[in-house]
Amino acid sequence: MLRTHTCGQLNISNLGETVTLCGWVQKSRDLGGTTFIDVRDRYGLTQLVFNTDTDVQLREQARELGREFVVKVTGKVLERSNKNLKIPTGEIEIAVTELEVLNAAKIPPFLIEDETDGGEELRARFRYLDLRRNPIRNNLVLRSKMAQEVRKYLSELDFIEVETPVLIKSTPEGARDFVVPSRMNPGEFYALPQSPQTFKQLLMVSGFDRYFQIVKCFRDEDLRADRQPEFTQIDCEMSFITQEDILNIFEGLTRQLFRTVKGLELDEFPRMQYADAMRLYGSDKPDTRFGMQFVELNHIVKGKGFGVFDNAELVVGINAKGCAAYTRKQLDELTEFVKRPQIGATGLIYARHNDDGSIKSSVDKFYNEEELAKWSAAFETEKGDLILILAGQTDKVRKQLNELRLEIGGRLGLRDKDKFSPLWVVDFPLLEWDEESGRYHAMHHPFTSPKPEDIAMLDTDPGNVRANAYDLVINGTEIGGGSIRIHDRALQSLMFKHLGFSPEEAQKQFGFLMDAFEYGAPPHGGIAFGFDRLASIFAGLDSIRDVIAFPKNNSGRDIMIDSPSTIAEAQLNELKIKSVVS
Ligand code: ASP
Repeated sequence: MLRTHTCGQLNISNLGETVTLCGWVQKSRDLGGTTFIDVRDRYGLTQLVFNTDTDVQLREQARELGREFVVKVTGKVLERSNKNLKIPTGEIEIAVTELEVLNAAKIPPFLIEDETDGGEELRARFRYLDLRRNPIRNNLVLRSKMAQEVRKYLSELDFIEVETPVLIKSTPEGARDFVVPSRMNPGEFYALPQSPQTFKQLLMVSGFDRYFQIVKCFRDEDLRADRQPEFTQIDCEMSFITQEDILNIFEGLTRQLFRTVKGLELDEFPRMQYADAMRLYGSDKPDTRFGMQFVELNHIVKGKGFGVFDNAELVVGINAKGCAAYTRKQLDELTEFVKRPQIGATGLIYARHNDDGSIKSSVDKFYNEEELAKWSAAFETEKGDLILILAGQTDKVRKQLNELRLEIGGRLGLRDKDKFSPLWVVDFPLLEWDEESGRYHAMHHPFTSPKPEDIAMLDTDPGNVRANAYDLVINGTEIGGGSIRIHDRALQSLMFKHLGFSPEEAQKQFGFLMDAFEYGAPPHGGIAFGFDRLASIFAGLDSIRDVIAFPKNNSGRDIMIDSPSTIAEAQLNELKIKSVVS
């Protein structure tokens, strides 16, 4: 090895030793006849000293070193007179006797320090330099530790890690596929897996019993802070189990990760039915770090002559605790917030519970003191509280109020990154109505089994059929989801029929799976965790980008390698493809 120690290793116990270190020049400062240089590697930072009195030439050489030069130094470990107790190597320094420049460096385009002056775009272009910075690298160290713990936990429970192919055919999980042309089969395309869903089910048919994989998945969707075109799942499947077994094993995995990686002991995870999550939070992934549950008001507010409420399917609100002192301007801001096109509410009604005990609403004309007292009772308001109400079509108004609740929660500082609130959401509907295509879609995916007692309703009331499906939510982020699967051909065919597939289409696309079900498929089920999301929650980040070494930007581009890009005519010819961009 080129070095005897790393830059984070030496301390007072090494005094007097002659050592050799390698690393990058972080900082250099001259003080009289002495030059101090901080040399950095992944493990830490060590101070080097060069002194005119000992070696004029060497000191001059040291003064020539620029930021991010790669050096190798040999010298003696000395005790520092000016100690820095904030870092493990802060009590010592190296009196250098030999210096070798292993590689020079151009001046980096931004400061390689914890606090950098580089903007997002610049740092993305020079991602390899950004990754030198502690905060970014630490996220990846954390991620690596989590991956190891996942492997350890699952392997101990007899899960086998199996790799599944990346060039497959379309797996319908609700997103658009990325496709890859096949040179050997002109005009035909592979699809990149949205997840290994069908393969892991086939592994159950093969008798593998317990499978897992930390695996890349690909979905061509519009990007958001918690979405990348390629992302990683902790993907699992088990045979001969019930939903209860899966929830217990994967709650166990999550708690183990919190215990070993974050040193936190979490309580048992609460469970909530999908219907309750929608009713109380307007979301299938409620942020339960704070309460502020929805209160429905139809029975209290209707029939008093206020058209907005009378004509609404649902009148529902929240109690923004302690916000009665909001100024007119702040309330206007909130009204603007809910009226933004992305949210789409038509207006916001409010009522203040004033310090003198009176309740004043923005619709006093329709609701007298006695009526407002009923509002106050419904929301359990106290002096200083502010009631915020929306009205409209049930599903829409719940979504809108969910946004408002999260906004208020944020403003009140209730969404603390150091607090973790996990929740299982269970009993999802099997199907979801899609306005655009005018038909039902699978809410999870087409392989999810309906609750046996609800199967009869598939024909009469498909929207109300519940699935054996579950999601793990932490702090309002969907961390994972899964289901008990269909494992017989007849039920799987019925499901495809309800999703609008003709028997021929179903056979063409999924014949392999339904055929497999005819050769002794065990009852099975599974789950997949979004590993990037879990890691970003552990790292206290808002975006998954910084737990990914080389992420893409919001337009799906990697601006460092400049991808996607056009390809050479010769490559297209080989693929027998003509590119016409319309
Ligand atoms: N394949 C599913 C997904 O990616 C997870 C599962 O059902 O296991 O969401």
